[in-house]
Amino acid sequence: MDCKEVDSVLFLFFDGEMDDETLTPFKDHVGRCGNCAKQVDYTRKLLLIVRERTIRCTAPDSLRHRILTHLPHRRSSAPGPH
Ligand SMILES: [Zn+2]
Repeated sequence: MDCKEVDSVLFLFFDGEMDDETLTPFKDHVGRCGNCAKQVDYTRKLLLIVRERTIRCTAPDSLRHRILTHLPHRRSSAPGPH
């Protein structure tokens, strides 16, 4: 496996869908190639950040959107329920 192949199957590795036939040469190459090791490390961190942000932002954003959509004129003037 070379760097291009590693790059093209990287998403399979992180999806957990890589079969052993691919996984063995993949790990073998990443273990020997600094560039690909960096690429794997970078992608892993990126996915972690994206996943965290997705979890953290989905609920508040949809809630805020719903509030803004349904109560566009009440934000400053209405006393609101207490
Ligand atoms: Zn490489």
